[in-house]
Amino acid sequence: MTTPTSTPPTVLLEHYLKQLKLPTILREYKTQGHQCAQERTDYPVYLLRLAERELLDREQRAAERRIKSAGFPVLKTMDSFDFAAQPSINQALVRELAGGEYIQRKENVLLVGNSGTGKTHLASALGLAACALGRPVRFFSAAALVMLLLERREERTLGRMLKNLERQQQIIIDDLGYVPFSKAGAELLFEVVSRAYERTSLIMTTNLPFEAWTEVLGSERLTGALLDRLTHRVHILEANGESYRLQDARKRLQRRRVPKNEKE
Ligand code: ADP
Ligand code: MG
Repeated sequence: MTTPTSTPPTVLLEHYLKQLKLPTILREYKTQGHQCAQERTDYPVYLLRLAERELLDREQRAAERRIKSAGFPVLKTMDSFDFAAQPSINQALVRELAGGEYIQRKENVLLVGNSGTGKTHLASALGLAACALGRPVRFFSAAALVMLLLERREERTLGRMLKNLERQQQIIIDDLGYVPFSKAGAELLFEVVSRAYERTSLIMTTNLPFEAWTEVLGSERLTGALLDRLTHRVHILEANGESYRLQDARKRLQRRRVPKNEKE
């Protein structure tokens, strides 16, 4: 056993840094030490640099944790969205939403449009932006959410799940589609929307016009109540262009045809 007096100070320092959970300082204190010695900077500057790096890394790690627990199906960013391919989307509004203030104001976003117009992409990108801004987010497909809610109710852990959802600052419900929910399923979905009202920002995407929501949710009264809460403070983004996948496939097809034509 070594006694503290015979232990080299760096061993002790590294032990303390681990105890204090300062992994970045642990990793960088030596190289920064050399650099500061070369630059002849004083001790506070050395400490400042280390503290800054630790803080930046900590924020980065927290954002990564938030992204992981949000459960995005794929990571889509705002940068990879081609607005020129979907001119019907209000780009100025999307850019404003990416700033995240609507989350603080507990406002909702509704993305409406045909299949392939980038609704899921934009919803995920807004969610990702929210994670980067420090907001806890959960992403669900509407069908999966309803299934999960029914399952949790069966297991008698629905209360826990609803509590967990209340801790989120944004809930994304993707793809309310043509498949109708059971009565119990629709009521549970309503429960989520209703609890989120004025407390949690909701993003919903759908290919259905409002008139068709009753077909999915079953009851006209429930649909009215749900839409009432959802649309009280809502930003609506409409995409009525052609499917991006279709545009993309057509471009690829054209590219493949060109060399053929050149040969002729
Ligand atoms: P939707 O949810 O409206 O059916 P998606 O968001 O799933 O459409 O889009 C389908 C695919 O096309 C995804 O891979 C998405 O990233 C891509 N995509 C759609 N619109 C665009 C766009 N304007 N720019 C870049 N990629 C797009
Ligand atoms: Mg989609």
